[in-house]
Order: sequence, then structure tokens, then C-alpha cells
Amino acid sequence: MNNDFTGKVAIVTGSSRGIGRAIAETLAAGGTQVVVNYAKDLEGAKKTVDAIVSKGNTASMFQADVSVLSQAEDLINYTLDKYGNLDILVNNAGTTRDQLIMRMSEEDWDLVLRVNLKSTFNCCKAAIKPMMRKRYGRIVNISSVSGIAGNAGQTNYSASKSGVIGFSKSLARETAARKITVNVVAPGFIPTSLTNDLPDELKEQTLSHIPLGRWGEPEEVAEAVVFLAGEAAGYITGQVLNVDGGMVMA
Ligand code: NAD
Repeated sequence: MNNDFTGKVAIVTGSSRGIGRAIAETLAAGGTQVVVNYAKDLEGAKKTVDAIVSKGNTASMFQADVSVLSQAEDLINYTLDKYGNLDILVNNAGTTRDQLIMRMSEEDWDLVLRVNLKSTFNCCKAAIKPMMRKRYGRIVNISSVSGIAGNAGQTNYSASKSGVIGFSKSLARETAARKITVNVVAPGFIPTSLTNDLPDELKEQTLSHIPLGRWGEPEEVAEAVVFLAGEAAGYITGQVLNVDGGMVMA
């Protein structure tokens, strides 16, 4: 089946850089009208929009801290007002505050759970009504291999990313009758600002656990998201697709 995105409308949260930007650009390249969401990085969001528009495709941007429900609602309402529709929601916004549990503060636990998990709840809650009314929707939530296999120093991050998986499977069951699919992409190690600061020793150690012998590219995660967001994936829901060079095999 041809994956035709012409006329489709998508929101990609946290798409001012990194994996989110690659997802926004790849969706737009297929003809999707994309809303680029950002929390603080206006310049980054402009770059994503410019990259899309310079190729003759359609994008606009909207500032919202999606970890706050009212702002997530503003993002969905902006999209509906501007484009009259919402077909695809990609919950990509995420953050880390790595620390061994002995040293992890309550603030860092709460922040990571709020940004990674509650944001996903917030945006899905706001988007689900219009999708149900239309009897169509594609939701793709970004988890992580850390949410599947665990990772020392990431109890907060892993809990949030496992939470995204459980949340997505439950939502997939709730919404399937309305032809809405909910799937998860779990990236492995992708060089972005999220992973820049990790110690070199840890990066080398991680590399030795990747069967394909290299780190992934944001564009490779984006291709998986776009597949799940398209018509061709209409019979897939409640699934987790690892994009990790074989790092985690079920
Ligand atoms: P990144 O830090 O470059 O991008 C994260 C984006 O989320 C940024 O644009 C940031 O501004 C945005 N964001 C953060 N909090 C937000 C909020 N409250 N509201 C709106 N936007 C917010 O990192 P990335 O590597 O591109 O990460 C993208 C997603 O992929 C994240 O969910 C991350 O957990 C996941 N992931 C990344 C890797 C990796 O190796 N890079 C691996 C597994 C999963």
C-alpha cells in the first residue's frame, strides 16, 4: 500500500531539535502539514519550520509546555483551528535527569515523570475527542530501550518510558473501535543533545552492546514513526517497535 500523507495534519511535540525535528521533517516530506511544538527553543523551532517550508511543504509552530495539561489542550486547539483537523499525534518531547537512586532528588524524579509520561497523557487526552469524532487517528509515542531493559542511573527515565508503553497499550485497546491506532517507537542510542553529555566511557560501553555496531540516526527513528503514522500500518496497534540496532531483542 502506498503511504500517502497528502492533506494529513500532524503534531510532533518537542520538534525544535533532535529526533523530533527529524520526525517533523520526514512527515512533512511526505505531504503532511506539521505543527512543530516547542517549549522554550524558539530558534530551533524556526529552523525546523524553515527546513520544511524551504522544500515546499507545510509547517507552523506552537509554543507549549506539554507537561501542563492546559498548554497541551492549547496545542491541540491551535491545530484544529488552523488546519481543521488532527490525524497524527507524535509524543516525542522528553528529558533526562540521570542519577543513581541514592542521589536522585524527588524534584528530578517528578520532572522526568511529568515531562516524559504526563505530557503523553496530556496530549492524548486532548487529542482523543476530535480523533474519536472523526473515527480516525494515528498516535505514536516515543519510549526508549531503557523503558524495556532498564538502565542503571535512569530509574526515573526508565519508569517514565515503561509507563509510556503500558499507557499506549491501554489506550490502543480503548480507541481501536474508533479506528485509532496507538503504537510506540523505542529508540536505542541516538546522538542528540539528550545523549551528548554522557561520559565517553559509557558511550563506548553502549556501542559494544549494539549488534549492528553503530549508533542510530534521528532519521532512522523518524522512518519508523512515519511508517506507524501512515495508512500502511492500519492493522498495527498496541505495538512497540525498537529502533536500536538490535540492542534489545524480545
Ligand atoms: P532532545 O533533547 O534533542 O529533544 C527533546 C525535545 O523535547 C527538545 O526539543 C525539548 O525542547 C523538548 N521538550 C522537553 N520538554 C518539553 C516540554 N515540557 N514541552 C515541549 N517540549 C519539550 O532529545 P532527543 O534525543 O531528540 O529525544 C527525543 C525523544 O526520544 C525523547 O522522548 C527521548 O526520551 C527519546 N529517546 C531518545 C534517545 C536518544 O538516544 N537520543 C533514545 C531513546 C529515546
